[in-house]
Amino acid sequence: MRIEIVPCLADNYAYLVVTASGEAVVVDPSEAQPVIAALEATGLSLVGIWLTHHHHDHVGGIEQLVQTYPRLSVVAGEYDAQHGRIPCQTRSIAEDEPLWLGSRRARVLTVPGHTLGAIAYLIEGALFSGDTLFSAGCGRLFEGTPQQMQHSLSKLRTLDGATLLYPGHEYAAKNLAFASELEPENAAIAARRAEVTALRAEHKPSVPTSLADEWEINPFLRWDEPTVIARARALGAPSDDAVDVFAAVRTARNGF
Ligand SMILES: [Zn+2]
Repeated sequence: MRIEIVPCLADNYAYLVVTASGEAVVVDPSEAQPVIAALEATGLSLVGIWLTHHHHDHVGGIEQLVQTYPRLSVVAGEYDAQHGRIPCQTRSIAEDEPLWLGSRRARVLTVPGHTLGAIAYLIEGALFSGDTLFSAGCGRLFEGTPQQMQHSLSKLRTLDGATLLYPGHEYAAKNLAFASELEPENAAIAARRAEVTALRAEHKPSVPTSLADEWEINPFLRWDEPTVIARARALGAPSDDAVDVFAAVRTARNGF
């Protein structure tokens, strides 16, 4: 299995997940044209579309892809299916229900918070996290509560450290600027910020990162670190509780 990064719109990423036999699914095609170009350039055959949530900058390419490649399976979560939020959806999937790509089984995790229907896909050590978990950041709480999002992030945090994170957006530079302000003494954040600055100067993606790296640099996975707790309390968190710490840091990020 291999993964191809397909930049879309201003800062979105779609991903082609490709089997050894050349079958591919695309995750979160916000627009169709770059995905079609990537498929044609490599001679891959598209068999499905996997969506993490219903926002337009994730589902915008579905209709054109379905017209271009008939009989695609269009997979999204149960909540979004019940609410009719995904165009052309053919299959709704619950947490841990089997989802196959060739002989590989993907694991689906429900991760409400950014939206109530958000799901993530884990296949062969690659995590497609949509707008729930970004490198050095997390999504805004458009529909869910801090408690839901912190619970979703804690679910992702317990995955194997070698898991590679493929998020929905290239937000690392801004996220790391915030992380550096929150934890100025954190050497891992400073080092990663320098790496991302160099990559972005060459217009290269900063993804993927490993989950083990995210444990060190992502303020939204660090609610139990003493330095982050102290900053959250200074920002108004009413207790050291993980949800209170997360909520205070998320609110600070909204205004950054
Ligand atoms: Zn979104």
